[in-house]
Amino acid sequence: MVKIGVLALQGAVSEHMRSIEACGAEAVVVKSTNDLSGVDGLILPGGESTAMRRLIDSYDMLSPLQAFATAGKPMFGTCAGLILLSKNLVGYDFAHLGVLNATVERNSFGRQVDSFETPIEIKDVATDFPAVFIRAPHIVEVGVDVEILAKYENRIVMARQGHILGCSFHPELTDDHRITAYFIEMVKETLAKEANV
Ligand code: GLN
Repeated sequence: MVKIGVLALQGAVSEHMRSIEACGAEAVVVKSTNDLSGVDGLILPGGESTAMRRLIDSYDMLSPLQAFATAGKPMFGTCAGLILLSKNLVGYDFAHLGVLNATVERNSFGRQVDSFETPIEIKDVATDFPAVFIRAPHIVEVGVDVEILAKYENRIVMARQGHILGCSFHPELTDDHRITAYFIEMVKETLAKEANV
């Protein structure tokens, strides 16, 4: 059974665990570098990116997380997780993991609508995915090696760069597990490729 880790320092952890299990994979709580070594792919949940970064630093996990991504292991960031993955952040002169070739802007859907749900079309996944946006970021720009998978109101809200996947919204907060299943498929493809090397 594939093992999918969820970075469990802060944020919507249990919802991701539930979604992974609903897809028939094993969900693993990742709280340390040691936990990271036992998983085939990793989900960075939504929450608060600044708080998560502080905890990543205090657990000395920044370089191990970057090494996990550069080793080709699949990573999926949702909402704050997308912010953690991206190479550039609008208004900041630093990034966090910096493994997704994209520029991301935080809190870009306006504070007056703190939270909303809307159906969106996602390439290769769904024509009507119920996307929950909570003080969501959006992707302002992507590099040539990044494929745009979804837009909402002309803003990029989901993208993939090989084994790195990111979205602005919270797929784990619905009972629709198609995005989680899509990520698990990415992990299985990576494992199959490794087995053939
Ligand atoms: N606004 C949050 C941040 O900047 C992200 C919100 C979320 O993950 N729901 O980290």
